[in-house]
Amino acid sequence: GARRLEGMYENVWVEFAGLARQYQPVNLGQGFPDLPVPPFLRDSMMKAIQSSDMNHQYTRGWGHPKLINALAKLYGPLLGRKLDPESEILVTVGAYESLYCCAMGLINEGDEVILIEPFFDCYVPFAKMAGAKTVCVSLRAKEDAKSSADFCWDENEIRNAFNAKTKCILLNTPHNPTGKVFSRKELELIAELCIKHDVICITDEVYEWLIYSGSEHTRIATLPGMYDRTITVGSAGKTFSVTGWKVGWSMGPSNLIKHLRVVHTNSIYHCSTITQEAVANAIETESERLGDKNCYFRQLPKMLERKRDKMAVLLKSIGVVPIIPEGGYFMMADVSPLGIKFNDGDDTSPYDYKFSRWLIKQKGIACIPPSAFYSKEHKDLSKKFIRFCFIKNDTTMTMAEEKFNEWA
Ligand code: PMP
Ligand code: GLN
Repeated sequence: GARRLEGMYENVWVEFAGLARQYQPVNLGQGFPDLPVPPFLRDSMMKAIQSSDMNHQYTRGWGHPKLINALAKLYGPLLGRKLDPESEILVTVGAYESLYCCAMGLINEGDEVILIEPFFDCYVPFAKMAGAKTVCVSLRAKEDAKSSADFCWDENEIRNAFNAKTKCILLNTPHNPTGKVFSRKELELIAELCIKHDVICITDEVYEWLIYSGSEHTRIATLPGMYDRTITVGSAGKTFSVTGWKVGWSMGPSNLIKHLRVVHTNSIYHCSTITQEAVANAIETESERLGDKNCYFRQLPKMLERKRDKMAVLLKSIGVVPIIPEGGYFMMADVSPLGIKFNDGDDTSPYDYKFSRWLIKQKGIACIPPSAFYSKEHKDLSKKFIRFCFIKNDTTMTMAEEKFNEWA
């Protein structure tokens, strides 16, 4: 194997999706919905299949014309500017590929990349494959944390992370795994530091529509001086709860997007035309009813807020402390009050890994160990937490409740 892959052979999704297949638990682990696909999305796909034979052939490499136009129309007002669909948007195979193109297209060997930890796990391999050094700024849970807003950084730590070698910072808001929605004030600090140190900001906003009462999503690209140094990443899989569609996008100034294009053109070339057409249809439908209460972008967070609250009640009922997320569809929970100990002779795995394996195998409930989202040095910061996913239908929730009740 290539030297650049050293240390990357273990992957939390491979292990825990594998365990879920093997043990068939109530799956509150990997982040995917098990809800029925809304009719307008099925129709968007059916129309894509049926409307033109050309939807079954290659399309424009950097994004199917109908999709880039729909994205420019939707995001122009959100980013407060007119977006040029031809040069400021790149369509990719999920947000994953956008992040990969950012890493390969923008980072040089020896550059420093700032990650805010916990971070979506692939950020580290992506930075490392590009030859960069990762510098982690930790979000630490306050002692009596109750909300994702209680995960905070130390301002000095983030200020000190920036230096002349810093090439970019990777931001994720709403945040996986905590559900934190970064406040305008926090984003202003990142913006100030990016501008001061001439740093690019890659902002992963795949959960942008999943914001709960009392919180507001600020797009860092809209802060003064930031558009020209920001790539905003989105995902149709997360936006429309169809994670298997694997369509994502990067948006930003053409002088940055052009580098991502080179990576994309020479690796993927383009992603499935039919799925891009279907996503374009879905965005067009949504764009027409944006202010409307039936709009999926408004319905989904409303429905999820109820599921979030139900999950919190469930967790409390078994003596676990839920950390209420402000956004996204994950919830961290402090399982330390359960006082469960493992004397299995395995002293290499972090506590949350042991707990998560035990929960799947012995209790029939799947979750994800969040230390997968921390650097090697800081895995201890997450040892009392477990991540649960709550974008699940009521039957799954009831089954989870039964399992939890058996246990309580
Ligand atoms: N970023 C974050 C924070 C995620 O949780 C995920 C998982 N969906 C992705 C990116 C990848 O998104 P996609 O499925 O569109 O590749
Ligand atoms: N983003 C999802 C999660 O965090 C799934 C990621 C994956 O399967 N690789 O659970």
